Amino acid sequence: MLTNAEIIERGNRYVMSTYGRAPVALVRGEGIRVWDADGKCYLDFVGGLAVNSLGHCHPKVAASLAAQARTLIHCSNLYWIEPQVRLAQRLVELSGLGQAFFCNSGTEANEAAIKLARKYARSQGGPERYEIIAMEKSFHGRTLGALAATWQPKLREAFEPLVPGFKFVPLNDLSALEAAIDEKTCAVMLEPVQGEGGVHMAAPDYLKEVSRLCREKGLLLIFDEVQCGLGRTGRLFAWQHGEVRPDIMTLAKALGGGVPIGAMLAGEAVARAFVPGDHGSTFGGNPLACAAALAYLEVLEEEDLVGNAARVGVYFQERLQELAARFPLCQEVRGRGLILGMELSRPAAPLVDAAREAGLLINATSGNVLRFLPPLGVQPSDVDEAMEIMYRVFEGIEA
Ligand SMILES: *Cc1c(COP(=O)(O)O)cnc(C)c1O
Repeated sequence: MLTNAEIIERGNRYVMSTYGRAPVALVRGEGIRVWDADGKCYLDFVGGLAVNSLGHCHPKVAASLAAQARTLIHCSNLYWIEPQVRLAQRLVELSGLGQAFFCNSGTEANEAAIKLARKYARSQGGPERYEIIAMEKSFHGRTLGALAATWQPKLREAFEPLVPGFKFVPLNDLSALEAAIDEKTCAVMLEPVQGEGGVHMAAPDYLKEVSRLCREKGLLLIFDEVQCGLGRTGRLFAWQHGEVRPDIMTLAKALGGGVPIGAMLAGEAVARAFVPGDHGSTFGGNPLACAAALAYLEVLEEEDLVGNAARVGVYFQERLQELAARFPLCQEVRGRGLILGMELSRPAAPLVDAAREAGLLINATSGNVLRFLPPLGVQPSDVDEAMEIMYRVFEGIEA
């Protein structure tokens, strides 16, 4: 077994430097706790960036993976795959959408959504209808199509020219959206709760109006629920908080209980625009990942984790509000369920480092926003434990 220092030294030598990494290597996890290579234990409120929604190594996911690994790990989409078919049926029943496509990540799910939207719009309105309107502060992934839908200039600039056909408008500004729509527009794409952009919520009324506008203008509505979906906001899908349903929805992060899988769902009429050869993925929807995802959805229901996320999310947000009232460097607390952000008047990174040293993993996004994404089964006592560390960290920063 290597130590933190040994792993970091080798990593710096052999792994491409695409991440700013904390100086610890995590080697083991159980529930809401993880351990590093030197044996130090942490309370995990990063949760694999919204992936470990069941906590670490949930026994049901582990058992399902082990059983499927002994039966059939991979066979290719040239053949029908029972766990994939069952997962598609389950997601369709839960979402009210029509059909599913499977891939391996969030960015791939969004690539699939962009391609499907273009193909469908072309079949309806011709090849000139290909533009997608996305939101400022959006994050949809890092492959070239999904990156073109991602707003943040510093993620995009070095890789231009990107895929053409994307425009950005501010979130929650209906008239800006209305003004941006023209004869080229085929779809509107947004995260009901923006994650990487700093935990910004689309207002329920705004979503309703966007949905109405899309129907009126014959545009597809695409929701990226890669981060906010699958229970995190206290509903299975974040759009279920309002009276809207998208035409296309993307999922990934939490779906496989820690195993890579992404999904793109669409209403049946839109979904049928894809015909054999239009899109594909060697690993997408493989038996192993689908078995994990089926276990994920079962555990959500058995343990009422969506309800827990709603309940404990309210408690956690109240505790964060108390903290914010006490320390002037806290500007705002926002979010829903267990996707929560605290905007600071200064860079968040030193607080993230101090919290980690004190045994709490949290994350900073957009420079000055602390983000909290604990497992959906987090208990009020875990929140109290985290808050105790947070108070100490904030006192230390202020001093
Ligand atoms: C993380 C994320 C993605 C990208 O997912 P990957 O699995 O990292 O490719 C896309 N959209 C949103 C909203 C995300 O949070």
